[in-house]
Amino acid sequence: MAHKISVLLVEDEKNICDFISTSLVSHNYRVTEAHSGQEALPLITSQCPDLILLDLGLPDMDGMDIIRQVRTWASIPIIVISARTQEQEKVAALDMGADDYLTKPIGTSELLARIRTALRHSNRLNTGSLLYKRPFCSRDLIIDFEKHKVTLAGKEIHFTQIEFKIIALLAQNSGRVMTYDTIISNIWGPYADDDNSILRVNMAHIRRKLEQNPAEPKYVFTEIGIGYRMVEDEMH
Ligand code: CA
Repeated sequence: MAHKISVLLVEDEKNICDFISTSLVSHNYRVTEAHSGQEALPLITSQCPDLILLDLGLPDMDGMDIIRQVRTWASIPIIVISARTQEQEKVAALDMGADDYLTKPIGTSELLARIRTALRHSNRLNTGSLLYKRPFCSRDLIIDFEKHKVTLAGKEIHFTQIEFKIIALLAQNSGRVMTYDTIISNIWGPYADDDNSILRVNMAHIRRKLEQNPAEPKYVFTEIGIGYRMVEDEMH
């Protein structure tokens, strides 16, 4: 039998737990459930799952404490499950080292897409993949990291150095949300002002160059209150 990808699902709400579990099992994942933090932590260390789906609001513990503890020793991808209104919580979880988040109510296709993306990124990190060498490609957009060249529908587009750095960072993390702070510290350094306005200005320029209709973007999406997400690379 083929190796199944193992997912640890940490969630105390029975309905959500059943729904996610059923969806994943029917798509060939192996799922272990934990309904509290005390149940989850020993399972993480003993089973070392391929991925963790983590509800932040657990009965006995803040999910954030689990992220903090896991990140001291493992890079297992963690996708946070959170309620719609808790933007600050999502940002904090991402900055703490979570890989992505899902907002309740969760749809099956989104759930599966997020899991695939998170697993792909963790594989790349582990295997030193060639992603950073070959160009990013989606629809009409090609970003060549080595040549610092962006083409859209065959036409080269000129970006400033900062703009190129931002778009390259988003493309190298395509499919994942990047928080404002993550982008800012990657581009301007860890001691940069955490004011988002320079980033927003640059993003507006990038969008004007990339998107035919910035109100309906095809390549760079805004996650309101959180950050930006680049469309998934097609050549993964
Ligand atoms: Ca909960």
